[in-house]
Amino acid sequence: MHKVKNKDVFKVSWTYDKAPESTDHIQIKKQYDLYIDGKFTKPIKGKYFDTINPSDNKKITSVAEASDKDVDKAVKAARKAFKSWSALTGKERGKYIFRIARLIQERAREFAVIESLDGGKPIRESRDIDIPLAANHFFYYAGWADKLTYAFPNRNPKPLGVVGQIIPWNFPLLMASWKIAPALATGNTVVLKPAETTPLTALKLAEIIHESGIPKGVVNIITGAGETGAAIVNHPDIDKIAFTGSTGVGKYILNATAGTHKKLTLELGGKGANIIFEDAAIDQAVEGIVNAIFFNQGHVCCAGSRLFVQESVADLVIKKLKDRMKRLIIGDPLDKNTDIGAINSKKQLQTIEKYIKIGINEGSEIYQPKCKLPKHGNWCAPTLFLNVSQSHRIVQEEIFGPVLTVQTFRTIDEVIEKANNTPYGLSAGVWTDKGSKIFHLTQKLDAGIVWANTFNKFDPTSPFGGYKESGFGREGGLHGLKPYVKFE
Ligand code: NAP
Ligand code: MG
Repeated sequence: MHKVKNKDVFKVSWTYDKAPESTDHIQIKKQYDLYIDGKFTKPIKGKYFDTINPSDNKKITSVAEASDKDVDKAVKAARKAFKSWSALTGKERGKYIFRIARLIQERAREFAVIESLDGGKPIRESRDIDIPLAANHFFYYAGWADKLTYAFPNRNPKPLGVVGQIIPWNFPLLMASWKIAPALATGNTVVLKPAETTPLTALKLAEIIHESGIPKGVVNIITGAGETGAAIVNHPDIDKIAFTGSTGVGKYILNATAGTHKKLTLELGGKGANIIFEDAAIDQAVEGIVNAIFFNQGHVCCAGSRLFVQESVADLVIKKLKDRMKRLIIGDPLDKNTDIGAINSKKQLQTIEKYIKIGINEGSEIYQPKCKLPKHGNWCAPTLFLNVSQSHRIVQEEIFGPVLTVQTFRTIDEVIEKANNTPYGLSAGVWTDKGSKIFHLTQKLDAGIVWANTFNKFDPTSPFGGYKESGFGREGGLHGLKPYVKFE
């Protein structure tokens, strides 16, 4: 409910009442085991770790830590299941995948609340984006399972075998879906590890996968930290590694799998350019800038973290952007009004704060709207850096937080050169009234995804992936099937 604080309508100030999503309907166990061979099993070494709510840094529950022996057990289960799973008809496999999609939909509210509790993202985002998109990925790939010969005409596609999948903490359920759905549709079996700070929705997904009746061992979900991930990467009986995470760990995995039979796809970091031309619809563009960098606290690999504004409209855009930033609501991730939730972990907050200091020390001008941050938990105000240049570290390095650098440009060639002057090549956005400019830029920008007059739009039918240090391989769409098949 809105409260009118002042009787004079022309001086009304609007505040929002709290609107927290209820947590009554969710079930979280006191402790979670590893999902291996169709059963929740205790870790061999008996170790567990806490998963934390980043909005208050309180423990939610404890989760098993998989050792290399557990990884081996999971790989053996997946290997055993591969024979019969890959021999099933595509139509039969599709039924299981379809069932998983339906079950996610049925429990969507529970998933949304747990995603926000464990990871800190606003409930509006987990409810309206992460969870529905995750279900849609399963629906989409369920549809492909019996049509692989149409996807690859005259090529007789065959599954690879056991796939090891490692995912980050920024879109936990969504990344699990991007990985598991195409692997199952193509007849592979899976060992998946979610990130240490956000294991809960993957474990809930394990419950759903179990409920779907899928044969045991087809999907194994094991929790743990980087060491568990490394044990998956180095296991000799894995046929493919699908990794989403930082460029640093991606490079390690590239080295570790070089010279082995393992196939590899890497979805890594980014430093997306968001380009605003003077002929753009400015108000929409400002909304687009906000969505590009503040969506999910900026924990987005394809975030538009480098803004380029054409000089003639720069003052106007920056003024409107600052005004808009003043109105962003920061706080309780479970509140339906929240725009910016909690930073995912203390460690990530320290990284972001380190970069903010670097930006200030490099001589850039910082802008943060006045806002009250909650006392407990991990929080960062939305941040702009003005007067930056290409050589600044905050322009070159991925911050992975709500921090935007702003530069201006005069000509198309200048902005193309600046936008491409980065080791990454994942995403870009172009805002203009002219279709011809859009087509010109999409050809010239070194980015796997270029959005026109929008940003951060995802769809299961559309491939996603990077160039340069943003990795290789595509997820989503028809392209997303290819990394999971071989041709005979
Ligand atoms: P990260 O540190 O690389 O971790 C990613 C995953 O790898 C986690 O599950 C992590 O486990 C695990 N891991 C850590 N060390 C490992 C090792 N030596 N061997 C195998 N696995 C290991 O990345 P993050 O900080 O979680 O995620 C943020 C990064 O992901 C950003 O750079 C972002 O741009 C990128 N990202 C890319 C995409 C894309 O599609 N291109 C999408 C989302 C995110 P722990 O959780 O225990 O550390
Ligand atoms: Mg957590």
